[in-house]
Amino acid sequence: MKPVSIRVKLTAWYVLVFSVVLACFCVSIYVMMERKLLRSVDHRLQTMAELISKTELCVVPNFLPPDFERRLNRIFGTRPVGKFIRVLDLSGEIGSRTDNLDDTKIPVNKKLVREVVSTGKIIFETQYPLGRDMPIRFINFPVVDFRSHKVRGVVQVGTSLEFVRESMRNLLVVFFVLGPSLLFVAAVVGFFLAGKALKPIREISQTTRHITVNNLDERITVPVTRDDIGQLAATINGMLDRLSLSFQKITQFTADASHELRTPLTIMQGELEIALRGERSVDEYLETLGSCLEEVERMATIVNDLLLLSKSDMGQEVLNFEPVDMQLMVNNLLSHFQILADEHQINLGSDVDEVETIYGDQLRLRQMLVNLLSNAIRYTPAGGRIRVSLKNVENGIEVAVADTGIGIPEDAIPRIFDRFYRADKARSRQYGGSGLGLSIVKWIVEAHNGSISVDSIVGEGSVFRVFLPTGEHEPAGGASSMSIVS
Ligand code: ADP
Repeated sequence: MKPVSIRVKLTAWYVLVFSVVLACFCVSIYVMMERKLLRSVDHRLQTMAELISKTELCVVPNFLPPDFERRLNRIFGTRPVGKFIRVLDLSGEIGSRTDNLDDTKIPVNKKLVREVVSTGKIIFETQYPLGRDMPIRFINFPVVDFRSHKVRGVVQVGTSLEFVRESMRNLLVVFFVLGPSLLFVAAVVGFFLAGKALKPIREISQTTRHITVNNLDERITVPVTRDDIGQLAATINGMLDRLSLSFQKITQFTADASHELRTPLTIMQGELEIALRGERSVDEYLETLGSCLEEVERMATIVNDLLLLSKSDMGQEVLNFEPVDMQLMVNNLLSHFQILADEHQINLGSDVDEVETIYGDQLRLRQMLVNLLSNAIRYTPAGGRIRVSLKNVENGIEVAVADTGIGIPEDAIPRIFDRFYRADKARSRQYGGSGLGLSIVKWIVEAHNGSISVDSIVGEGSVFRVFLPTGEHEPAGGASSMSIVS
């Protein structure tokens, strides 16, 4: 089934609501009009009945004045055309009546007359002596003796409601002609307005439809008015910005990863080609093999790091949280790194306090410290100093690795945690760095709900400070998967 467009749905709702409102409006007008007309008929009947009740027509005993019709004409100055008038005694017997009542057999409702006599109230009634189409409205008006204040009889004045019926019929015709025309106009206007309101959305969907990876820099023209549609366009543009950035970073990441892996491969290829060019001594072959092994190890490290990061991206890297004695871990590592530091003629010192137990993944926390210490040694020239400190801080512990190394340029600091980013490319590669170490450190720290900061001055050294919270807690959900675009 073809989906119904929002435009048609909006128009349908508009027409539906409009027709309900219109119907309510017509019904109330009809009811009000009918009531108003009836009230004016009743009012006229009452005025006449009151007038008649005060004339000699109702004084004559038994209400049988001679020339009733003539006297009536005199009272009103003209013949009361279309009016049925009769005067009844207390028992409802007809005294006098207009001639038109001779031919029409309009029965006297004696029960009603008795009620008027006993209560002295004016009572209106509608009778249908000439059929349902010809209703006649009557007033039963009590004739009160001005001396005794007693009811002496009842004046009945009636008139046909033909005129009211006719007016109401005409009104219905107007409604039936005007209603559908108004609905039609409403539908056309509604359809037009819905189309106008939805036009920007159509434009947005058209533009969005042809955006692919090849033209991710294209944007939707945001309407000047910052209404819902303007916001939608701005939101989509924001999403495109982020997608474009992610895509650029993914492309960059792929290029960097290929480059990183190609370098050792090229070196190996070169070494092997030279070795195969002619006969070599055993020592030369051994040297070539050793060099190749070095490159293979380098590639293995890169692949392992990449695997770890992509697993963390997909949330597949499970961290085993348990109580960790950081003091023991740091001291342990320091004794291992002491040998390396001595090799590089670097002074490795420490300032390790007894700290609170933290909850974390032993293996990953160790990897984090290894990466920070390896960097410190890698980027500190011989004769330099490295100081590792561990202390309690508010709500957690702080591990700091400070060195007197080459430092990091200010503009490079925000990028050192990006994958494959190296501030000092030559030095990093020379010492076996892949540009992934700090990305892994950042992921581990964030997975432990911690934070990392760097202070560095070029030529003077750098300090990496890691805060890790104490207390039992779960691995951070979002942080455990650090994305390429973070
Ligand atoms: P790499 O394997 O290149 O060391 P990292 O991700 O560990 O990769 O570090 C990224 C970059 O940050 C390094 O290439 C280096 O330029 C800079 N860097 C990291 N640690 C230090 C440090 N202690 N002193 C100076 N520069 C550093």
